[in-house]
Amino acid sequence: MKYVDEFRDSALARRYTEAIARITTRPWTLMEICGGQTHSIMRHGIDRMLPDGVTLLHGPGCPVCVTPTESIDRAIAIAGEPGVILCSFGDMLRVPGDTGSLLAARARGADVRMVYSPLDALTIARETPDRQVVFFAIGFETTAPATAMAVAQAARDGIRNFSLLVAHVLVPPAIEALLRAPDNPVQGFLAAGHVCTIMGFRQYEPIARSYQVPIVVTGFEPVDLLQGILACIRQLEAGRAEVENTYSRMVRREGNQTALALVSKVFAVRAQRWRGMGEIAESGLGLAPDYADYDASIRFANVASPPALPSECRAGEVLRGVLRPFDCPAFGTRCTPERPLGATMVSSEGACAAYYRYRGRSAAALDGAASPTTASTATALEAAASPTAAAPAAASDAAVGVPA
Ligand code: SF4
Repeated sequence: MKYVDEFRDSALARRYTEAIARITTRPWTLMEICGGQTHSIMRHGIDRMLPDGVTLLHGPGCPVCVTPTESIDRAIAIAGEPGVILCSFGDMLRVPGDTGSLLAARARGADVRMVYSPLDALTIARETPDRQVVFFAIGFETTAPATAMAVAQAARDGIRNFSLLVAHVLVPPAIEALLRAPDNPVQGFLAAGHVCTIMGFRQYEPIARSYQVPIVVTGFEPVDLLQGILACIRQLEAGRAEVENTYSRMVRREGNQTALALVSKVFAVRAQRWRGMGEIAESGLGLAPDYADYDASIRFANVASPPALPSECRAGEVLRGVLRPFDCPAFGTRCTPERPLGATMVSSEGACAAYYRYRGRSAAALDGAASPTTASTATALEAAASPTAAAPAAASDAAVGVPA
C-alpha cells in the first residue's frame, strides 16, 4: 500500500537505527505525544532498537485516557436521565470514571450507544425527535472539526433535541504543562502527525524556543518514528531546539485552515481538566456563546453526579511519563484490558494496553524481555514489517533524509 509499506521497510529502518546509534553520544529522554505512536513503538519494538540510554516516554496522547473522570461521571449521570440517549466513541464507553463506566450504566438500563462520528449521533437525534440525544465529545485537535460540524449542522437545521457534553483538549498547552513540571524528564518531543495535520505546527515554535526543547512532527509507521527520533537526537546532540517536520507527506505548517475556521466558529478556548494533570489553562474547547443552546452541561445543569469512589489507578503518572505501566502494582493482575481499572488500559491508544498487548502480562515477563540487543530487535521489526527491500522515494522526502 502506497505511503504505508515503504514506511515499514525493515532495511530502511535498520539504516535509521544505525544512524541514531552513530550520532548518539549521551543519554536522551524523548516523549511521543500520541497513543497511536506508542502502540507502533511497542508493536515494532522500536524502543528496543535504540542505543542504551535513549529512553522513550509515553505522553498524554490518548484522547480517551486524558478525559477526566469527572467528565465521565457527568456523562453517566446524564445517561441515567429519563428519555436521554447518550452517544460516544466505543473506547469511551468502557473507560472507568470514579463512579463506573458508561457500559456499566447501559447494563443498568441507560440508553448508551456507540457511534463512529458525532454526525451519527446527530442522525439519531433527527430520527428520534421525542428523545434528548447527547454526544459525549472527546479528543484532540483531530476530532474537534467533526464535532464542530455536527453542531453547525444541528443549528442550521434547527435540531433542538441534540446537545454536546464537551471534553475536547488541545495538545500544545499540555506540552507546556509537562515542561513546566519540576519532575519533567523530557528533553525532546515527537509531536503527533495527525494532530498537526489539523493544527499545523506554528504553535509549537514559541514552545521550542522558550523551553529550548526540540519538537519533531512525526508519523506512525516504524520508519516515520525512527526518522523523528533521529531528527530529535540530532538536534539535541547539536544543542538546537527547533520545530522540525518529518511527516511532510501529510503536515503543513499552517495546518488545515478550513477545519480550523470551523472549530474557531463553534468553539471557544477554555481551561480544561486532564486526567492526572489537573486543570491546564487554555487547553480545552467549550461551545462558543452562539452555540450555548447545544451545551449539555447547561441543558442538564440540574443533574447531580454520584459521589466518587477511591481508585488505585495511577494512570495520571503514566500520562505524565513519570511511571511506566509495568511499575503500576495493578498492571496485569488486578488491571487487564478485560477488567481495566483505568483509561490507559482500556483504549486502543492507551500506554498500559500497549505494554500489556506487546510486552506480556506481568512485570516479571517484561523484566525477562528487558535487555534486548539491537540485532534481535531489528529482527523483531523485520518480522512485523513489510518485506519491501528498496528505499522508496516517498520515505526519502522526509526532511531528516535517509541515512547512508
Ligand atoms: S495498569 Fe491499570 S491501574 Fe495501573 S495505571 Fe495502568 S490503567 Fe491504571
